[in-house]
Formats: sequence, C-alpha cells, structure tokens
Amino acid sequence: MIHSRRFHTRLCRIAATAAIMLASQNYAWGKCDDDWLAIDENRDGDVLLLTARNLADFPITYSVRVRSEAASDTRQHARSKRANGTLAGRQTERLMTLPANDDDAGDISISCTWTIGSRNATHDDDYLYTLPYATGTSYRVIQGFDSRFSHSGVEQYAVDFKMDVGTPVHAARDGVVARIEESNDKGCWQDGCGRYANYIVIMHDDGTTGEYYHLQYNGALVDVGDRVEAGQKIGLSGNTGHTALPHLHFAVYKATSRALPQSVPVTFVSADGVVHKPRRGHRYLAVPSHRVGD
Ligand SMILES: [Zn+2]
Repeated sequence: MIHSRRFHTRLCRIAATAAIMLASQNYAWGKCDDDWLAIDENRDGDVLLLTARNLADFPITYSVRVRSEAASDTRQHARSKRANGTLAGRQTERLMTLPANDDDAGDISISCTWTIGSRNATHDDDYLYTLPYATGTSYRVIQGFDSRFSHSGVEQYAVDFKMDVGTPVHAARDGVVARIEESNDKGCWQDGCGRYANYIVIMHDDGTTGEYYHLQYNGALVDVGDRVEAGQKIGLSGNTGHTALPHLHFAVYKATSRALPQSVPVTFVSADGVVHKPRRGHRYLAVPSHRVGD
C-alpha cells in the first residue's frame, strides 16, 4: 500500500526479516485514499470533522493517524491523534474533530492503514480446512508454520505449497470472494516485489479471511462477491509477487485492533487424517471437505 493499495506482499514474499516489515509493505502507513477506505474532511465553522468511509462491501479494520502542526505561532507544536475501528461494508463513521479556524489549523497530515476483516472476529478453531488443491492430488510443503525463512510474525501460520504455474487452486473453506488481483505478470525476489502479487481473498463466515497468493496472470476463476464452497476450484497458481519459485501461499488471517492482519493456526484434513501443522518436505493428499451430515 503502502497500505493503501494493499499490495499484499505477504511475507513469503518479503524477505525474512519478518516482523520488521510486518510482513508486507502492505501494512505500511499510507495515504488515505484508495479503493476501500476514504477519509473525508468537512469544515464546519471552527472545527474540521473527519469521517471514515468503507467503500467496499466487506468489513475493514482501520487505523488513522492525524498529525497537525499549528501554524499560528512560532512554537510549532505538533499534535498527533489516532483513531482505530472496524467499519462494516459501506459503513461511514465519524472519526474526530480538529480545530479549523484559519489561524490555528496549520498543516494537517493524515495517514492510514487498514486490513480486511473485523478486529472482533474470532476464528473457529474447530474448522477442518480442505487442502487448497484438487481432491486426489498432493503438493510438497516448502514452508510450514513458524518457518524461519519467511513465515513468522504476521505470516507465522502460512503454508507454501510447491506448484507448477497453472495448477488449479481450490478453496480451503466456504466464504465470499472479497478481493482479487490478477493483473500482474511478474515475480521477483527484491524488496517491493510484493506489489506484483496476484491473489484471491475469501471472507469466511467467522470474519477471518483465507488468502491465496502468487496466482498466475488472469489466474482468478471467481469474481468478487461470489459465494464459494470448500473444495471449489477458484484459481490457477503462479509465480507472481515476492516469490523465488512457483508456489501457492495460503493462510487464514484475522484483523488485529492495530489494523494489521495476523495469520492464525488452522487444521487441514488429508487422506492420512488431520494435519495440525503441515511439515516442510511432506505432501498431503487432498480429500473432499467434511460437512455436517456427510
Ligand atoms: Zn508463503
């Protein structure tokens, strides 16, 4: 995005120094003006009213920082205010008021960060995830949870599966497609490569998101707003974004109160039983999703 564009440079795409970048430049502070979050400034007499608007149909958790420098005198005192919150899809919320008289207003700079999902979401830890590829196939895990290479911090519970470009990617859990990027055609391993990632973000019923990264150009087979079911084919894997070889990066994230995503541990079902912690070098055979009543 600077986070504003939500480049989604998940860690595996950023180099290993993990926590520092909080996994993605994606979550750096940026301008408050993108396709999801808008901050409006309205002057009303002596005050400036700031309002946050969610332009999308899905909840977002934001953090807005306002820095103002009074221009009226020589003291040049700076003030900083912050507002955090979650907005439902299309919701507008009043953030704060600031003095707006001509003498006192000075320069105001506003920066924002946001992530998809509600900070109040609670992951359903009992949910059994389907492996994110076709039933009857298996792919080698090249990074599991807690991998020192690049799965730490925000990406602590992400999994990378080695896959040739064009391999079908299947939904690991039911949900609604919230965000798609598929216009990129580049993968590289330098800082900043994360902006080239193609991805699909699926909003689960518990408010967490399943995110599928590094898809090929035009590799999304679903549209924003589509309801998908676990096991459904949704995309084609690739090698876009911050990546050193063709693979699928999958993780489930929850928004934190600081407006950052945090991956959460998930459990998969495989032909060999339940997988609590996918191990590097292993291949897990995908089986159909488990449903109540099956
Ligand atoms: Zn990864």
